[in-house]
Amino acid sequence: MLTMKTKCEACRSSLRNDSAATICSYVCTFCSACAAEMDNQCPNCGGELCARPRRTTGAVQISRRAPARILRSLRTRR
Ligand SMILES: [Zn+2]
Ligand SMILES: [Zn+2]
Repeated sequence: MLTMKTKCEACRSSLRNDSAATICSYVCTFCSACAAEMDNQCPNCGGELCARPRRTTGAVQISRRAPARILRSLRTRR
């Protein structure tokens, strides 16, 4: 699984799993603003920076996939 870094390595601004970010093949991670400034070239390894696929987590996605009986048990517990 891809390690999702939570901070831009250049400006230290925080990056959420679902926010726009760029990574190189060594998973150096930068925000899109820094990547643009660096011409999409990683300053650590010289590699190309590509947009990181977003990872969305949370109840919405899980409940969409969960069978109806699990949803029912969640509802009664609440
Ligand atoms: Zn940055
Ligand atoms: Zn790199």
